[in-house]
Amino acid sequence: MGHSRIVILTGAGVSAESGVPTFRGPDGLWEGHRVEDVATPEAFARDPRLVQTFYDLRRAALAKVEPNPAHLALARLDADWPGDLLLVTQNVDDLHERAGSRRLIHMHGRLKSAWCTACDTRHGWEGALLDWPPCPACGAVGRMRPDIVWFGEMPYDMARIERAVMACDLFVSIGTSGNVYPAAGFVDLAGRAGARTLELNLDPSMASHRFDESRLGPAGVLVPELVAQLLDP
Ligand code: NAD
Ligand code: ZN
Repeated sequence: MGHSRIVILTGAGVSAESGVPTFRGPDGLWEGHRVEDVATPEAFARDPRLVQTFYDLRRAALAKVEPNPAHLALARLDADWPGDLLLVTQNVDDLHERAGSRRLIHMHGRLKSAWCTACDTRHGWEGALLDWPPCPACGAVGRMRPDIVWFGEMPYDMARIERAVMACDLFVSIGTSGNVYPAAGFVDLAGRAGARTLELNLDPSMASHRFDESRLGPAGVLVPELVAQLLDP
C-alpha cells in the first residue's frame, strides 16, 4: 500500500472475539451497569465499593481470556513493519501486550495497574483493590484506585498520540463505536493532515462516514487480512 507511518486505534470490538464484552445496547450498559455508575470520578466518590468491585471483577476476568487473531496480527505488524507505527488502544484489558504488541499506548489506562492518589505513583496490579491494600510506595491506606481514565478525565499521552496521528500516512480504526471523545476525533485529525483513513468494524459506526473506507466484519477476520495486505503487498 506504500504507507510508511501507521497509527492504529482499537476499541472494545477488537477484544470481543476473545470473550471480553463491549458496551451493549443503545444505553451503553457495561456488564449490566450504566457507565455513569462505574466509570466516572463521581461514581467512585459516591460508591467506592461498587466501583472497586466492578474493576476487580474485570481484572480477574482477564485470566480467563486469550488474545484473538486480531491482536496477534497487530503484534505481527508491530514486529515486521519497518516504518513508524503506533497502536493506540482505548481498551483497558491486556490482550494487545499479551499478543506481543510493543509500540502501544493505553490511552484509557489499564486494569492491571493501580494508582495511588496519595503519592501519585502507579503499580502493576494483579489482585483486588476492594480490600484497600496499602500503597507499595508510600504506605497510604485507602488511596489506591483503578488506573483507568474515567469519563470526564484526561486520557493518557494525548500529546504524543496527536503528534503521531497528525504525522501518519495511514490511520486505521478497529472495533470502536466512535462515540467516546477525544479518540473519536482522531480520524478527522488524521484526514485533515492528509492520511488515508480506514475503519474496520462489525457494524457501521457513528463515525463511518468520516473515513475514506469502511470494511464491515469481525476483527478476527478483517485485521489479519489487512496486516497481510500491508506486509505482503
Ligand atoms: P464500544 O463498546 O462502544 O463499541 C464497540 C464497537 O465494536 C461497536 O461499534 C461494535 O460494532 C464493534 N464490534 C463488536 N464486535 C466486534 C468484532 N468482533 N469485530 C469488530 N468490531 C466489533 O467500545 P469503544 O468504542 O471502545 O468505547 C468503549 C469504552 O469503554 C472505551 O473507552 C473502553 O475503555 C471501555 N471498554 C473497554 C473494554 C476492554 O478493555 N476490552 C470493554 C468495554 C468497554
Ligand atoms: Zn502512595
